[in-house]
Amino acid sequence: MTLAERQMQFLFALRSKGVTDARVLTAMEKTDRAMFVKGHFSERAYDDMPLPIGAGQTISQPSVVGLMTQALQVQPRNKVLEIGTGSGYQAVILSHLARRVYTVDRYKSLVTEARAIFDQLDITNLTSLTADGSFGLPDQAPFDRILVTAAAEDPPGPLLAQLKVGGIMVLPVGQSDSVQTLIRVRRLENGFDYEELRPVRFVPLLEGLGKD
Ligand code: SAH
Repeated sequence: MTLAERQMQFLFALRSKGVTDARVLTAMEKTDRAMFVKGHFSERAYDDMPLPIGAGQTISQPSVVGLMTQALQVQPRNKVLEIGTGSGYQAVILSHLARRVYTVDRYKSLVTEARAIFDQLDITNLTSLTADGSFGLPDQAPFDRILVTAAAEDPPGPLLAQLKVGGIMVLPVGQSDSVQTLIRVRRLENGFDYEELRPVRFVPLLEGLGKD
């Protein structure tokens, strides 16, 4: 199969799994997943499966990235926060959809590697930082959208507090060793609205910085 055919199949697989939003599909088409996986795993870059990256972490399954991005309903003028940079793949997709994106990871090595890809792609609206994302990013808050790509037992309080009124946060919640639920939280004038979307499986949202 040629590269073009594999990429075509990749987009077809996304559509068949329910990723139908045209802006999201275009952003994913523009973002070559092979750049974010290393060594022999790059052969599997267009397969719909999670793959290992550094620091014992994984790049998420493309259809899950697509469904989460779609659920986030990113608007062109939005300021977005992503918790869990990992490979940087999800962050680059968000950078094609939003005005400004901040992404944080607890592993400095992952942030450094992801930043090298952002520079190579000449992406100027994406900032990456090494930090414990469970506290959000108070300096840049509030955010229109927050996407968490690691599972917490409950939505972290600081992240709820850093969401604008009218803002949306998408995150997996539940115990790390069992099936988790992807939820969408909307901040209303007075309180929050919670919606369960689908079962997912993510690495846990851990406290503190990673040792690497
Ligand atoms: N979005 C990534 C995949 C994320 S894997 C991608 O597109 O490749 C989950 C990531 O969350 C891991 O890199 C892990 O280090 C990070 N993580 C876990 N707990 C965290 C925390 N408290 N703060 C920031 N990052 C965290």
